[in-house]
Amino acid sequence: MPFNQTDDGNGIARNHSMPFPNKFITAEAYERMIEICRRSLPEEACGVLATTGGGAGEAVSTTNAPARIDTVIPIANCHPMAKNSFRFCPEDWIDAYYSMQKNRQQLVGFFHSHPATPPLPSTRDLNGLLWTTASAAKGRLSYWIISLRQPLEPKAAAYEIAGNRFIPLMLA
Ligand SMILES: [Zn+2]
Repeated sequence: MPFNQTDDGNGIARNHSMPFPNKFITAEAYERMIEICRRSLPEEACGVLATTGGGAGEAVSTTNAPARIDTVIPIANCHPMAKNSFRFCPEDWIDAYYSMQKNRQQLVGFFHSHPATPPLPSTRDLNGLLWTTASAAKGRLSYWIISLRQPLEPKAAAYEIAGNRFIPLMLA
């Protein structure tokens, strides 16, 4: 399934630059993440970030660096107040999990959007994401928030969770 294809030719202007080094997320994956978030407006989008690295015996997390994201899988937002909250729809989450297995990809993070607020984690975000720390991820997980407060100038920020807190990821 073409989860990691970009959505070219859809008429959306690409007037934002890729603010993260390519070794942490590919430009294609970044564009796709932004596009998924735009399409979900005015509701929050959410989904899974994965890496195809790790094939052919290559370990994804031999270093402490986060794995490079090259795959973005949208997951439907089942939260009853989806304009300012998100919750993975279980069927989509299961589908994403099996898709990653089938394509030999590894879960490396999650993303969601903030349609009208800055890319800063909320208390609801922390509560909603703490369960992921118990998931089967092998390396470090990153948590990405895309702010569409200015839709033509999306702002993204990446975090990891340590204890019960979000810590900004240093991706420079
Ligand atoms: Zn949030």
